[in-house]
Amino acid sequence: MGGLSVFGALADETAAPAKPAFRPASPLAPVRAQPDRLIDFAVCTRPFRPQGPRIEAQRLHGKNVVHHYGHGGSGWSLSWGSALRALPLVLATRERHIAIIGCGAIGLTTARVAQRAGLRVRIYCKERPPEVRSSAATGVWSPDSRLYAAEHATPVVAAQWEAMARASFKTWQTLLGLPGEPVAWHDGYVLSDIPFGEPLPDTGPNDEPDYAELDASIQDLRPRAVTLRPEHHPFKAPHVRRFTQMVFNLASYQRLLMDDFLREGGEIEQRDFAHARQIAGLRERTIVNCTGYGAKALFGDTTIVPIRGQTARLVPQPEVDYALYLRGVHVSMVPRRDGLLVQAQGPRDFNNEDARVDRAESEEAVRRLAAVFA
Ligand SMILES: Cc1cc2nc3c(=O)[nH]c(=O)nc-3n(C[C@H](O)[C@H](O)[C@H](O)COP(=O)(O)OP(=O)(O)OC[C@H]3O[C@@H](n4cnc5c(N)ncnc54)[C@H](O)[C@@H]3O)c2cc1C
Repeated sequence: MGGLSVFGALADETAAPAKPAFRPASPLAPVRAQPDRLIDFAVCTRPFRPQGPRIEAQRLHGKNVVHHYGHGGSGWSLSWGSALRALPLVLATRERHIAIIGCGAIGLTTARVAQRAGLRVRIYCKERPPEVRSSAATGVWSPDSRLYAAEHATPVVAAQWEAMARASFKTWQTLLGLPGEPVAWHDGYVLSDIPFGEPLPDTGPNDEPDYAELDASIQDLRPRAVTLRPEHHPFKAPHVRRFTQMVFNLASYQRLLMDDFLREGGEIEQRDFAHARQIAGLRERTIVNCTGYGAKALFGDTTIVPIRGQTARLVPQPEVDYALYLRGVHVSMVPRRDGLLVQAQGPRDFNNEDARVDRAESEEAVRRLAAVFA
């Protein structure tokens, strides 16, 4: 389940410490789970490559190109560590003024890491936040979500991933407690109809690969999940676990990244590249390609597979400071400051680049949430 989950913490299913549950000081506020309280919908395409993110240098159209894309369902989580991995390739070109194509999670973070290394950066992009696909993400720490197909997770890859995840995690902790709460930690509850030790029923054949579940190597980074007895939670569900997770408030976080980038002399130029050869006309000689799913069309990377995901927001409820995950139906709710973010993972998401909103999908997810408060 870990690779499919929006909550890295769910990979904990085998670790059920039989400790007495901690009872929260105050009752949990119920979610006002009504479809008419949905205020926004967004669809995003995870740029999944079975072999994992592409982080490599290439000489192309007379430029030094550093490719940096293909982060599946983990782009926000891994952004800092991944940018630190791309940085030596950029520095090796010895250029002090660089270009980055892309202003999503990866482009913006790469830009900040490059600035911290003393480089001048200009971003070229078709869209910028909040129009980028990254803005539609859930916004939780999920560093191994739909990132590598299991068959590609060699020990070398796993070690590289662990280094990226740890470096990212470290940076995320420096962003806690800031105005606008770009990053926060919250409790969450996994609700299940069947015991946690039992696998979910097989949903039938599909094209989706088994994903590498890597987060056992970084379990020291977060508190353990705890199984709760019925008298210790208010939910209508036979099996409940509490976990603790890191949440990214993407609206304020993206604004923080943009402000920091511009304050340190960064520039953003609107540009839609129809062909990769158009990079030949850029002023800069070193270009970092952070185009995410866009790299499929622009750089002809046929290994990228689109994995559709739809998120929707319920009217903000600041009193709801916990997440929910309905195991079995794969519905989640994350307490963000810009609303309670609702997501339903569907069986038709894999290899699906349909970016149209399916309102009925989110309304059904809200009804499922309502049922656990009945
Ligand atoms: C539903 C959903 C939930 C998710 N939840 C999480 C989560 O909770 N945690 C997590 O870590 N990750 C999550 N992800 C994954 C994460 O959103 C992605 O990994 C991340 O957004 C990829 O960022 P990116 O910068 O590579 O791509 P993008 O955000 O797509 O940015 C690409 C940039 O390149 C530009 N560009 C592309 N092509 C061109 C072109 N031809 N010319 C000019 N500019 C171009 C675009 O305009 C844009 O600026 C989720 C994904 C989905 C779909």
